[in-house]
Amino acid sequence: MFFSRFIIDDIVKIFERLHPIELYNLIRTTKSIRKLLLNQEAWSIWHRSYAKHKEVPSCPSDTSYPRWTTLLFGPDDCDVSCLCTFDDLETEENIYQKCGANYAMPDFAFRAHFCESCMVYLPISPSSKCGS
Ligand SMILES: [Zn+2]
Repeated sequence: MFFSRFIIDDIVKIFERLHPIELYNLIRTTKSIRKLLLNQEAWSIWHRSYAKHKEVPSCPSDTSYPRWTTLLFGPDDCDVSCLCTFDDLETEENIYQKCGANYAMPDFAFRAHFCESCMVYLPISPSSKCGS
């Protein structure tokens, strides 16, 4: 879908007034809106949205607005990725699998959700190796 410059300016003005959770939900509506909001040029929309809604924890400088918003309002699926190695195959194959367990709690230091099981093996980074 093509947006004219005039329409984009109006959309930006509207989006800047929305709550961050509404921007999060908009990302999941159409590819055009997703592309618009995930473009780094749209960071001003996110910035103004967060500035307008002081009750929402502000986005740290070391992460992106969409990532931060997903941590705050996204699904509670565990974000831990596990590197599984299949040594028994003729060709050694490594596959990253996401835990994906539900009811994971957000960890704001790691900027990720951890389920209860993965929290036990709290990794140095959200990526770990199976069995380690
Ligand atoms: Zn997990």
